[in-house]
Amino acid sequence: GRPLLEVIDLRVEFPNRRGTLTALDGISFTIAPGEVLGVVGESGAGKSLTGAAIIGLLEPPGRIAAGEIRLQGLRIDNLPPGEMRKVRGREIGAIFQDPLTSLNPLYTVGRQLIETIQAHLNLGRSSARERAIELLRSTGIPAPDERIDHYPHQFSGGMRQRVVIALALAAEPKLLIADEPTTALDVSIQAQIIALLRDLCHRHGTAVMLVTHDMGVIAETADRVAVMYAGRIAELGPVTEVIHRPQHPYTVGLMGSIPTLGETRERLAQIDGSMPRLDAIPSGCAFNPRCPEAMPICRSERPPLMAAGSSQAACWLHASASADTGARR
Ligand code: SF4
Ligand code: MG
Repeated sequence: GRPLLEVIDLRVEFPNRRGTLTALDGISFTIAPGEVLGVVGESGAGKSLTGAAIIGLLEPPGRIAAGEIRLQGLRIDNLPPGEMRKVRGREIGAIFQDPLTSLNPLYTVGRQLIETIQAHLNLGRSSARERAIELLRSTGIPAPDERIDHYPHQFSGGMRQRVVIALALAAEPKLLIADEPTTALDVSIQAQIIALLRDLCHRHGTAVMLVTHDMGVIAETADRVAVMYAGRIAELGPVTEVIHRPQHPYTVGLMGSIPTLGETRERLAQIDGSMPRLDAIPSGCAFNPRCPEAMPICRSERPPLMAAGSSQAACWLHASASADTGARR
């Protein structure tokens, strides 16, 4: 079937006094209805920026300089702000690292849930309240019929993120963008929240773009994974393939061992050096200074995503194989 979300050759730039910083370049991927796409990479790789571009919340002066974003076939990258706000409320929900950024401290969680439900579904006040209680119950909040009248500060961090998940699902969005949804939480409850998010989205048929630097979270949750490096996609494929048969040398380094939930890897286990700054991205393959397999072409020509095993990798090592199958672009 048709993808729910299509990101096509997306480029995001930040103009500054000294020129233009290209923060995302040539980003292309799709998300199918109900699918969970994990987006993984080190800090600064462009994961959050990709999510922000999709929901139309790039911080100025950041702007989409090239490419398209389509939701159910319709472009959303060039909508007027008012139209985009409607898409954000109705079609695409968002969950961020800090639950407090998504909740209004002055209103009870019930008021926020009921307003969201009524803005999107044609329900009277008491039906909307019933539905809000149901949503809170489904996120595992005890005594939801009492808790609904509490304010955000009356919940613990983990309970608050459950409220945020309920709120994000209240409008029945087709796509949820979850950016490091458990990073701010106690390690002991991270797994519960991830399982809850996965189960609820599965039940509602909601697709998820799950941004995280935690490969364990990806392994537990995602159907497919996009590995980002220096503002580009290095590898894209089914999650078990990417974990067990990584095709890009960067991913090979990232997967030094099979990840477990809660494991944080800001640095590569096996590869020296660090990700380049966006104003100093090497020519050719951005990974070439760190790559144990680098060849002359890697310094001059930028590799596009090519067929690699059951995945796609932006790496010249796969050029001949993909040329044989006609998948090289
Ligand atoms: Fe390494 Fe070259 Fe592949 Fe880049 S394109 S990952 S430098 S082999
Ligand atoms: Mg981030």
